[in-house]
Amino acid sequence: MTQRIPIVENILSANDRLAEENRARIESAGVFSVNLMASPGAGKTSIIEQTLSRLADKLRVAVVDGDIATSLDADRAAAAGAQASIQINTGGECHLDAVMLQGALNQLDLSKFDLLIVENVGNLVCPADFRLGTHKSVLIASTPEGDDKPYKYPGMYRGVDALVVNKIDLLPYLDFKMDYFQRGVEALNPGVVTFPVSCRTGEGLDAWTNWLAQNVKR
Ligand code: MG
Ligand code: ZN
Repeated sequence: MTQRIPIVENILSANDRLAEENRARIESAGVFSVNLMASPGAGKTSIIEQTLSRLADKLRVAVVDGDIATSLDADRAAAAGAQASIQINTGGECHLDAVMLQGALNQLDLSKFDLLIVENVGNLVCPADFRLGTHKSVLIASTPEGDDKPYKYPGMYRGVDALVVNKIDLLPYLDFKMDYFQRGVEALNPGVVTFPVSCRTGEGLDAWTNWLAQNVKR
């Protein structure tokens, strides 16, 4: 008889327990937190820069950046006005998990911040499975990736609380069909709040940052 050991389930439930601890810490400090997920190159770091340029004079923002290597993104966040920016190098792991975020939280005095932005590793698969303990999960899609991504990566689109669609300035040059894309999103995540934006033109970014700021106040 073959016996199967549910290793993946065990890893995920241990991660969930730690995510709850992270949440309790973030919550008790009165900080609102988001987990930004996207494929590589969708514009997570650009969105963070644009967000900081609109919010850094009103809110105290900490950024935690997950990447396989380098501190390039944390450096960009610091340059854009984050009051703290911490780089997590995952050493090859293609997602952040709750232990990694715990390590970053250990380096932050959360009482000094209003908003915590976590930039996950660029990947549309496993980041959806690893809860970190943040309040909201946000997916950043971008038009050059194609309009079929909700159909191909349902796990990612299903679980998020908000969707940013970046690079809408490129729509005239692409075969991206917004209605086809949105039908796919709607089937997986009905009514999810969606922000079409362009980091190049600035279009839509105020609506996105207002949503963040309103959540901070709550
Ligand atoms: Mg980045
Ligand atoms: Zn992974």
